[in-house]
Amino acid sequence: MSPPAASLRSIRICAVEISSRNGWKRRPGLESVNALNKTRISEKAASFSESVIREMTRLANRHNAINLAQGFPNFPAPDFLKEAACRAIRNDINQYAITWGSPRLRRAISDKYLRQYDYEADPDREITVCCGATECMIAAILALVDPGGRVAVFEPFYENYGPDAAIAGAAPQYFQLDPERDWAVDFEAIERSIQREPLRALILNSPQNPTGKAFNQSEMERLAELAVRYDFYVITDEIYEHILYSGRHALIAQLPGMRERTVTISGLSKTFSVTGWRLGYLVAPEDLTSAVRKIHDFLTVGAAAPLQEAAAEALESSGDYFEKLAEEYRRRRDFFVPALRKAGFRAWNPQGAYYVMTDISGLTELSDVAFVRRMVEEIGVAAVPGSSFFQKGDSGRKFVRFAFCKTMDVLEEAAERLSRLRGR
Ligand code: PLP
Repeated sequence: MSPPAASLRSIRICAVEISSRNGWKRRPGLESVNALNKTRISEKAASFSESVIREMTRLANRHNAINLAQGFPNFPAPDFLKEAACRAIRNDINQYAITWGSPRLRRAISDKYLRQYDYEADPDREITVCCGATECMIAAILALVDPGGRVAVFEPFYENYGPDAAIAGAAPQYFQLDPERDWAVDFEAIERSIQREPLRALILNSPQNPTGKAFNQSEMERLAELAVRYDFYVITDEIYEHILYSGRHALIAQLPGMRERTVTISGLSKTFSVTGWRLGYLVAPEDLTSAVRKIHDFLTVGAAAPLQEAAAEALESSGDYFEKLAEEYRRRRDFFVPALRKAGFRAWNPQGAYYVMTDISGLTELSDVAFVRRMVEEIGVAAVPGSSFFQKGDSGRKFVRFAFCKTMDVLEEAAERLSRLRGR
């Protein structure tokens, strides 16, 4: 256990006194030891708090509540994937893979982009495998953005982006999506802001967590025009690319002038229901890839070798898996969103991903945090308070997000419990 601050201070003072009494010189470096003792943790670590989403999972566990907070499925991963992982371990694929991903997996990712989007990515020079989309994002920001560089983030946002920017020393710039216009983008606000101070990068998460918004073609084109005109990078988070309820997912990297300035991120977590495997990947032009690979190497060395082998096998033989996946999530959405509305929530129908953003003002005067706590304790359903998706917590006060990546029986039980909220 670390000693309390007061005793640290006295140890420090004591050391200086003894040394001067004996006529010793102050040892170089003592000042930095003193400074370390004074602050204990870095400014960066102090600048953000623990993940609210993961904290909600702990609260749900404590109360034995249905966990609709954190976005992990309660159903098994596909058998073909699990079998492939077991086979890889039995075949002794147990040592470090090549840092930027096993050749077979990078080839399978490249083939997927070609098949799915008609997008050519060189597996040797343009694809990197990381420990989840999470590591891809932080590695990309560290590789492309200098301290102080401005990074645009749409708000409400997936809660990692703020800490990602803080760790990189970047300056996040938040741009509100308008809930009254189906989470529309205010392009004029972005342009005005860039004209005041340049942007280094923009993070584009589509389909989006927490709103379920899928940016449409015209929005992507306008963002691409801005990126080209004002010369900034776009770092995408497309982890939900295969959970889209209508139309086809599109890559902003394919729009004119975008290939050389886009980092496209995705991964296995959500598509194959293996959030614990920690497998993500990133596609970027060669010069950006080289920079990201260096950061990735020293952050984590590489992702789990046998799981990469299994991932390659899964991508190679995915057949109609992606279509079926979207279809099953559509069924869950079409059951759960009306159930939330019936229970008194205003709920936005997600166009993709597996979250529903709701407005609780019709149900309660409590804040999001108090309301979610009450839901866990009184009816046994956990969700995420909206304030964790906003920079200023107050802006999220009336919102609560539910994750519906659960089996139908769990969603039915949750709907039944939620129906008891009204009139409490
Ligand atoms: N990006 C978004 C938008 C997410 O919602 C999540 C998980 O909830 C992640 C990334 C995490 O992805 P991974 O498990 O690949 O790190």
